[in-house]
Amino acid sequence: MNFTDTHCHLADAALRENLPHILTAARKVGVKRFIVPATCPQDWQSVAELSEMPSEHGQIRIALGIHPWFSDGIAEQDFTSLEAVLARYPRAWVGEIGLDFYDKTQTPPQRERQIQVFSHQLAIAQTQRRRVIIHNLKATADIAAAVKQTGFAQGGIVHAFSGSAEEARVLVGLGFKIGIGSLLLNPNARKVRDTLKALNDGDFVLETDSPFMLKKEINTPANIPGIAKIAAEIRGTCVEEIAKVTERNADALLGR
Ligand SMILES: [Zn+2]
Repeated sequence: MNFTDTHCHLADAALRENLPHILTAARKVGVKRFIVPATCPQDWQSVAELSEMPSEHGQIRIALGIHPWFSDGIAEQDFTSLEAVLARYPRAWVGEIGLDFYDKTQTPPQRERQIQVFSHQLAIAQTQRRRVIIHNLKATADIAAAVKQTGFAQGGIVHAFSGSAEEARVLVGLGFKIGIGSLLLNPNARKVRDTLKALNDGDFVLETDSPFMLKKEINTPANIPGIAKIAAEIRGTCVEEIAKVTERNADALLGR
C-alpha cells in the first residue's frame, strides 16, 4: 500500500532536525509522497529547500503562501515576493492560504483583511495556474465567495476539514478535494466522521498536519496508515481500498 501525506509541515523546527529519520519511518509504512505548505514569508526559503531534497527520501511537493493567521502583518511587497518565489519554483502550489474565523473576538476589519490576503493569493494562483492548499475554519461561505469572485479554477485541497457534509459538497463543487486527517484520531470528533461517511470516493485525500494536531506527541507522516484505518472503519471498507482511492485522488492533483 502507498500513501500520500497531503499536508505536513516538514520544514517546521519540530521535524526538520530529524527529517531523514522521519521520512525513513514514513517510507517503511508506505508514505512516500508529501505536500509541504509554508505559512509566512519567513519560511518560504526553508520550505523551498525541501523541494531540492534527494528523491530517495520520497517525493516532496511544496506550497508557498501566507496563512490567514499572518494576514495582519502582510504588506503589498509580500505579494510581489510571492509571485517572484513562485516563478522560481514552477511546480510549487500556493499555500497554505485561507480564512480562519474560529476566534469570535475578531473584528470585522480583521476578517476583511483575511479575505483580502486570501483573495490576492487566489488571484496569483489563478494567474500562475497553481493549485492551492486552503485552511478553512468556520469560513466555508466566505471561501466559496472568494473563489467565485476571483475566478479561481485550478483546484487543490481544503485541508484538515472540520465542516459538515453540505459544506464539503460546496467545496468539492468548486474543484477541491477534502483533506481528512488527524481529527479522526479524536473519537469525539463526530462531525468529521459524519462528513467522511457522506463523501464520494473521488472527493478526499489523507493528511496528518504534522507536527501539529496531537496533544501529547509530535505528529509525523508515519501516522497516515492509522488515519487510513480509521477512515476505512468509518466508510465500511478496507484500508487497501482507502489507500487506492486516496492515492488516485492525490495522483489527479499532483499529476501536473
Ligand atoms: Zn497546516
